[in-house]
Amino acid sequence: MPDIIQLLPDAIANQIAAGEVIQRPASAVKELLENAIDAGATEIQLVLKEAGKLLIQVIDNGKGMSETDARMSFERHATSKIKNAADLFALTTMGFRGEALASIAAIAQVELKTRTEGQELGTKIVIEGSKVISQEPCQCQVGTNLSLRNLFYNVPARRNFLKSNSVENRHIVDEFTRIALANPQIYFSLHHNTNELFHLSPGNLRQRIVGVFGPTGNKKLVPISEDTDVVKISGYVSKPEFAKRTRGEQFFFVNNRFIKSGYLHHALMNAYEDLLPEGTFPLYVIFMELDPKIIDVNVHPTKQEIKFEDEKIIYNYLRVAARHALGQYSITPTLDFEQDPQVSKAYQHGESAQQKMPSTAMNWDPAGKKTFDVAQTKKEFGNSAESSNIKNWEKLYKGLDSLPTIQNNNEITTISSQWNQEEVLPQDNDPVKRAFQIHNSYIISPIKSGYLLIDQQAAHERILHDKFVQQLGHQDQHTQALLFPINIPLSVQDSQMLKSILPDINQMGFDVKEFSANTFVVQGLPAECGDNVSAEQIIESLLEQQRNSQELQTDIKTNIVGALAKSAAIKRGTKLDTQEVQTLIDQLFACEMPYANPWGKKCFIVYDLEDLKKQFEV
Ligand code: ADP
Ligand code: MG
Repeated sequence: MPDIIQLLPDAIANQIAAGEVIQRPASAVKELLENAIDAGATEIQLVLKEAGKLLIQVIDNGKGMSETDARMSFERHATSKIKNAADLFALTTMGFRGEALASIAAIAQVELKTRTEGQELGTKIVIEGSKVISQEPCQCQVGTNLSLRNLFYNVPARRNFLKSNSVENRHIVDEFTRIALANPQIYFSLHHNTNELFHLSPGNLRQRIVGVFGPTGNKKLVPISEDTDVVKISGYVSKPEFAKRTRGEQFFFVNNRFIKSGYLHHALMNAYEDLLPEGTFPLYVIFMELDPKIIDVNVHPTKQEIKFEDEKIIYNYLRVAARHALGQYSITPTLDFEQDPQVSKAYQHGESAQQKMPSTAMNWDPAGKKTFDVAQTKKEFGNSAESSNIKNWEKLYKGLDSLPTIQNNNEITTISSQWNQEEVLPQDNDPVKRAFQIHNSYIISPIKSGYLLIDQQAAHERILHDKFVQQLGHQDQHTQALLFPINIPLSVQDSQMLKSILPDINQMGFDVKEFSANTFVVQGLPAECGDNVSAEQIIESLLEQQRNSQELQTDIKTNIVGALAKSAAIKRGTKLDTQEVQTLIDQLFACEMPYANPWGKKCFIVYDLEDLKKQFEV
């Protein structure tokens, strides 16, 4: 039999490789943008026609290529970025495989114009289906201008598989967004057909996020920053109230490379815990810097997945960092403390604001084993969280007592001066006392930039929940005996359920016994319950929590805490006196997470003076 094995011609080998590297216009965009960044560009323009199917052009002002390099760049495995295997473990560039340009040249009509600083004339190369059509000197700017026409023109099967322009465009914008976020110091623009979709001036990360996601972005963002011996974490997370029903604003970067990780996403979602309404997702743009030696980027050709040496420890750090950030800034959208104007006298918060907070943030470990020093983290994060949280809230009220929620605002001054201010403004200058209840259900509390509308029931649920988390489950759990034991008849299902948790709840301060078939007698409740809850209410609420928990997989303590908070909380419709209103506000803002009750319902809404003003404009 004759020999039948042959080496594939380069053009075919390149076409096959291209299948891996370039799946669609967006993959070509990614490769070209990354090349421009690797070349040190400070300005990068992306021009598209027909969602990149007709044209993808990237113009950069990077270092350009010499004539020889320009020609070489289209060869397979031609790269200037690594020289030996060891370099693979100390990568500082986005590219390193030397496959992108070779692949692109195999499946499109490519024109490259490039010039280095030292050259007078640049080089122009036209290449189609891996075949060099022409190469000649040309006039051009320093940098590289690469255009790629008719992607997959010679691979009809792939061309036919491309999706509609809107779908392909979305993929391109995704890639563009990731790269733009990772490089805020670089100017980027994106033109599609005749429209300019993005025009991103160089700036810091916050400005870039706002540039990418729109001006409302700024109000949403809370900085996250944590420096540990393994990983340096930085970036922004959005405040819970801005979470969206759709995904698409979640970004992790490891050593400035975008990665996808369901596992790390989970860490983040976990940090938001009960703050988010179900089925919503926060925005986050998080950068992790690690020693390249402990990650492996070489896992997947499109390089979006990486392997960490110890993923669990990253998970933990990330979760703690996010929790910390959210706790520190448990502030609301309209309050940007960085822009705090002149402040006269600090708001004095009452004694009651000293209420202890739970430190749930730190006692969690997905692996069930200690991967880092929990106690240490607690020391670093836990204690500071409490004091700084209260400080943040103090700032919220600062300046208020010197009056003039209204005067401070120039544009309103003209109107207010026509009024007798004594009549318009509450007489009492103490900002907290000026809070008042409406409809026996909600509290209005003026703040510097507007006012808060607080839902008293949700707020009290949050307060009690946090208190019970602290108090319950200690060895010396106190039970308060009921004067009159109460019999509670239950359905068969409910009594089975209650029976199964009797030992647990009795250990936590309840005194409940089975009385007869499907009837229980409650003789005592945890001392923390206070006097205004009925045993029936608590048991009912506990069973409800327990039923829900089968889905949510919450533990018994969580359920008990939830049941107690729910049943003992002040209900809507309950009249509160001035002192009670004040105490409620103090206690709410001493909580680590005052935004929402333990089930994700908002505790308050912020109304901004500016927005109010707009509503009165015609
Ligand atoms: P890689 O980026 O993995 O090295 P590519 O095929 O993308 O492989 O690029 C091959 C080489 O071409 C790069 O290593 C680089 O030296 C050069 N190159 C590509 N694009 C540019 C550019 N925009 N500016 C300067 N040099 C470039
Ligand atoms: Mg490259």
